[in-house]
Amino acid sequence: MKWGLVGASTIASEHVIDAIRAQEANSIKSVLSSDPQRGAAYAKEHGIAHSTIDLDAIVGDPDIDAVYISTTNEKHFPQAMAAIAHGKHVLCEKPLAMTLAEAVEMVGTARQAGIVFATNHHLRNAGSHLAIRDLIQSGRLGDILSVRIFHAVHLPAHLQGWRINDAAAGGGVIPDIVVHDADTVRFYLDEDPESVIAKAASSGMGQGVEDSVMSVWSMPSGVMVQTHESFTHPFAGSGIEVHGTKASIRARGVMTQRPVGEMILVDGDGQQDIPFSDHGLYARSLSHFTKAVAGVGQPSADGVDGVKSLAVALAVREAAEKGHAVRVDYGGL
Ligand code: NDP
Repeated sequence: MKWGLVGASTIASEHVIDAIRAQEANSIKSVLSSDPQRGAAYAKEHGIAHSTIDLDAIVGDPDIDAVYISTTNEKHFPQAMAAIAHGKHVLCEKPLAMTLAEAVEMVGTARQAGIVFATNHHLRNAGSHLAIRDLIQSGRLGDILSVRIFHAVHLPAHLQGWRINDAAAGGGVIPDIVVHDADTVRFYLDEDPESVIAKAASSGMGQGVEDSVMSVWSMPSGVMVQTHESFTHPFAGSGIEVHGTKASIRARGVMTQRPVGEMILVDGDGQQDIPFSDHGLYARSLSHFTKAVAGVGQPSADGVDGVKSLAVALAVREAAEKGHAVRVDYGGL
């Protein structure tokens, strides 16, 4: 399978280029950048034969089978629609789009076109989160009471661009991190948050966009979810806790791009370590995607998953702005 990269991005550079190349018979033909010099330098650095500033040169290339879209968030929708129109399979970064209507349109159009469309939610590909999901679904924790997510990080200097100062490009911690937490909770519980309340803030980094948010989500089953996302916390560390009537899971350092962290299960008999696989998160995402293109199985997170994580994030932002509870609108999905 030949790929075109839409966006000369950090995430492609740090994770996804390697993950594509780790798949048998997958290669990258070309990269799109809005800047010819940066695109050429990026292509050279990563051993990609071609770079272009013309989206059509990638989506219209009959030799390219799939595109990976990792531009800033406001570009995902038009670029994905162009790729779908040319029959390319699409792996799109989160958040899928700036609005729910755009995301729903992307996913509906992809379905009609019969192409594989996936969202690059990496966390559900982690051995840690797969192990937590298995424990929840096996009944080991009993009835689930609550989930607490600690996802307050310190945004590295090289990522402190549009994320902290450009609302039009989709900046802010809500579109950046809440989407991942929403996807993780949906993945664990197989249900969608019903309503949310939230408070957001700018606590030193955000300029015109929020850099911190706390929210509480109500699940249809009655499970309560509490989340904290931020760009400004150098020493908080990340984690997730799932509490049930028979046992709790306390996981630390697992809200991350790497297969790391520590997890324990605590119950009336004491506590024990939870083992988990250390496979690469992005390699697994790409493995599922390439198999789905070959007609085997589904992407680990599909388009509907991307729409729903965006829907939760948009509800969190609206709740923070309005100061009251907001029902999550999933756009009919
Ligand atoms: P970057 O800022 O690295 O890249 C986004 C765009 O910014 C690129 O497409 C590029 O434009 C431009 N750009 C990159 N470097 C420079 C530079 N030095 N000077 C000027 N412009 C530059 O963003 P990320 O890689 O962090 O994020 C891209 C997308 O991926 C976002 O949608 C984000 O939400 C998502 N993401 C997903 C993650 C996941 O784990 N699923 C993790 C991180 C990000 P051009 O292409 O025109 O050259």
